[in-house]
Amino acid sequence: MHFRFRDIFQELIRRVPVFRSLKAYIFVLMLVIGVVPSIILRIGILEGYEERAVSLRISEVTTQYRIIADHLLNYNYLQDTSSDVVNAELEQMSNLYDGRVLIINGNFRVIKDTYAISEGKTMISEEVIQCFKGESVSRYDSTNGYIEMTIPIVETVEKDDQTTSRIRGVILASTSTDSIAATLEILSRRALILEIVMAILILGIVLFFSHILITPFNRVTKAINEVKDGYTDKEISVPDYLETEHIVEAFNQLLGRMRVINDSRQEFVANVSHELKTPMTSVKVLADSLNQQPDAPVELYREFMQDITEEIERENKIINDLLTLVKMDKTEAELEVQPVDINALLEATLKRLRPIARARDIEMTFESNRPVTAEVDELKMSQIFTNLVENAVKYNKEHGWVKVRLDADHQFFTVEVADSGIGIKQEDYDHIFERFYRVDKSHSREIGGTGLGLSITRSAVLLHRGSIKVSSVEGEGTVFTVKIPLSYMKAGGVV
Ligand code: ADP
Repeated sequence: MHFRFRDIFQELIRRVPVFRSLKAYIFVLMLVIGVVPSIILRIGILEGYEERAVSLRISEVTTQYRIIADHLLNYNYLQDTSSDVVNAELEQMSNLYDGRVLIINGNFRVIKDTYAISEGKTMISEEVIQCFKGESVSRYDSTNGYIEMTIPIVETVEKDDQTTSRIRGVILASTSTDSIAATLEILSRRALILEIVMAILILGIVLFFSHILITPFNRVTKAINEVKDGYTDKEISVPDYLETEHIVEAFNQLLGRMRVINDSRQEFVANVSHELKTPMTSVKVLADSLNQQPDAPVELYREFMQDITEEIERENKIINDLLTLVKMDKTEAELEVQPVDINALLEATLKRLRPIARARDIEMTFESNRPVTAEVDELKMSQIFTNLVENAVKYNKEHGWVKVRLDADHQFFTVEVADSGIGIKQEDYDHIFERFYRVDKSHSREIGGTGLGLSITRSAVLLHRGSIKVSSVEGEGTVFTVKIPLSYMKAGGVV
């Protein structure tokens, strides 16, 4: 039951937008803070007034009847009720306080009733008995609008220098509290009017302020919308609150990131166009020069055609690499993960590349500390190894060496590809992983590089949640270190 109520409440909040509005919360909060104290104040003041008025009335009436009690004894009224003076006094009191007066003697008999209803009857109520014991009692009945009170008729006798007092009878009097009620109503009406005026005023102020307070957030939305709609791509600024500043800061950072992505995409497109155009230009130049020499010897034709074929092959390689890179940029859903024997994969890679190494008399060795099996995409892993080992051969010296080392701990396996080649300058460490970046363009082109190999390698490593590092000494050699988790972890998985 409890849970169902909470569910309904949550659903309500979700469905009705105003329940999720900060402006509405501020509005309600300020209204409550403004109006509730005035209600409490009204109730408190009115109740305080009533209490005070009733107690004043009781003490006033009691004093009056104490005087009358003395008169009753002086006129011996308890024995003989015929005294006109006392009767007139009692009548006057009854009229003045708009209430009834009963005089009860020591036998609990009512000897006088200003309403002349109970005369002669016996009255043994709790209040009367208490009063005979010396306790004056008063009771306020707010529903019927009167106060009832008992006043003892005390006789003091002086005998042998000693004063003794005896309660001879009781005055049971009531007084109407209509005048208190009337004042109370006037006051309460006035308080209510004041309260309504205050509530209207507070409502106005609250409406104004809840609007003002929320405005910076609307400004944030407006500024973001302007960027979204493409009117501006400048950084936005809403420094009104710390909170808006934080939102805007985060947005600006996002904007910055998007700008970098956009710039790099534009640069990539420009690079692609340039890279694809280069072989085409060469082909055109070769073909044109043949066309301009109608009687060129067949050998020249053969030679130029050979060059044209090479350029086309290069174009093909660039396109293939580009396709691989584009595929790699997609999500990891594309990964076909399965347990792969890494030792065997590295050995196969080295075997495939051995002929080109042998052509330059480069010695290739493979060293493994243990058999390693890992959950990886075999094709992509093979691409990583091929690119690294191929680069180690390509950017090597004649009679050099390439050493591949495999190791693993309980979490990762590490492949190290070291060579005795030309090396890489430290300032180029980061750049070599960029698309189309080549340290020495002409040299790389000469040996068939596209500048995409390491970019592909790094993407593949990152898809496997691994890392790739480079360290090199110029002119002495380079070491690439790849570290890959043994078991594949999907994005968002707990590390
Ligand atoms: P490429 O197709 O030109 O080889 P890569 O992306 O594979 O492109 O490499 C980028 C650049 O990094 C290369 O052009 C080369 O200058 C440098 N490089 C890569 N591997 C090595 C290495 N083992 N030794 C020296 N330089 C290297």
